[in-house]
Amino acid sequence: MLLVSRPSGCGESTHSLTNNEEVTTRSRSDGFPSLFHMSFVPQENVSLASFSNYKIGGPARYFFEAQSFEELHMALAWANEKKIILFILGGGTNLLFADAGYDGLVLKPALMDIKRDGSRVTVGAGVGVASFLEFCIAQELSGFEWAGGLPGTIGGAVRGNAGAFKGETKDSIMAAQSIVVDSLEERERDNIACRFGYRTSVFKELNGQEIILSAIFDLRAASSELIRRAIQEKIDYRIARHPIEYPNIGSIFKNVDLMQFPEERHADFVDVVKHDPFPVVPTAYLISEAGLKGMTHGGAMISPKHPNFIVNTGSATAEDVLALIALVKESVSKKFSVLLEEEVQIVSATSVA
Ligand SMILES: Cc1cc2nc3c(=O)[nH]c(=O)nc-3n(C[C@H](O)[C@H](O)[C@H](O)COP(=O)(O)OP(=O)(O)OC[C@H]3O[C@@H](n4cnc5c(N)ncnc54)[C@H](O)[C@@H]3O)c2cc1C
Repeated sequence: MLLVSRPSGCGESTHSLTNNEEVTTRSRSDGFPSLFHMSFVPQENVSLASFSNYKIGGPARYFFEAQSFEELHMALAWANEKKIILFILGGGTNLLFADAGYDGLVLKPALMDIKRDGSRVTVGAGVGVASFLEFCIAQELSGFEWAGGLPGTIGGAVRGNAGAFKGETKDSIMAAQSIVVDSLEERERDNIACRFGYRTSVFKELNGQEIILSAIFDLRAASSELIRRAIQEKIDYRIARHPIEYPNIGSIFKNVDLMQFPEERHADFVDVVKHDPFPVVPTAYLISEAGLKGMTHGGAMISPKHPNFIVNTGSATAEDVLALIALVKESVSKKFSVLLEEEVQIVSATSVA
């Protein structure tokens, strides 16, 4: 069992749950947060557009980038005491903020430590995936190359079990460490207890009740050159197929499990089915077949290059994007009798969908 290493004054317990899940909980009894949060001052009225890859979103009432665990603790204690709603921001590559902004505290855990111990690497939640891959190349550690070109942070990747090219974040994770927003307890879950699934995890189920602090990856030795080449292949593939010339937040919808279609229709999809990591019909194909490529609403456009991307052509509002999301869902449902499910997070002024 791995433990979160923090100074003394802590009570600790390990729970074995069903299915061999292991969760270690640690609570601090030294009054640490209340000593410090009195001096905590967040920024006010901060534009969220500049923290979103979409370049869309109104102001956050409060904004704070925590550069350390202690600062994160302070911010949480402050928000709890003032009963202010909280949104956790990673790299902003999978989020649509509302035009009205966010009427609470947007907290960015910029925890940037990377520590290696043999084949195990503990990576702070705020570390960019690209920086972690650079670390893997330099340290000759293999296992995460599938993430070449994946934008965002380790925290965001763990929460959504980000995946591509038949790889998923869960494949090399041993454990994830987190803090409970309400109680400020620290937890460590092993891979099973993280309950990873297709673009999901226990952290997504908990819907903002816990903040991921770090993840422990178990990697294997390989030559830097092989690792670099494998990463570059993925980057090249993305550059060729994704509309990254426009601000975007990646695929708007999850791909559709082939099993959601009646068996007699499976033959229709034989040429397009992908393994992601189970057989799926790409949503880009469904949107394209529904005749929606290139459709616009205000400054938002369904990308002709990759129709599961809705891009910001320059002046898109959140309302423009939401209008296209509604259009896609309705058209695809009419044509294929399946309900598309959003992969992206839609953050309204007071809640998260
Ligand atoms: C061009 C492009 C290509 C993409 N390709 C892929 C792909 O191939 N596969 C894929 O899976 N995704 C892809 N994405 C989507 C996105 O990059 C990933 O989902 C990424 O992992 C999100 O990370 P982030 O740090 O940007 O999270 P954010 O967008 O900032 O946040 C996403 C969610 O994670 C939560 N979150 C962030 N950090 C934490 C934390 N420390 N603790 C708890 N919750 C947290 C946020 O509250 C939010 O709910 C792509 C996006 C773009 C723009």
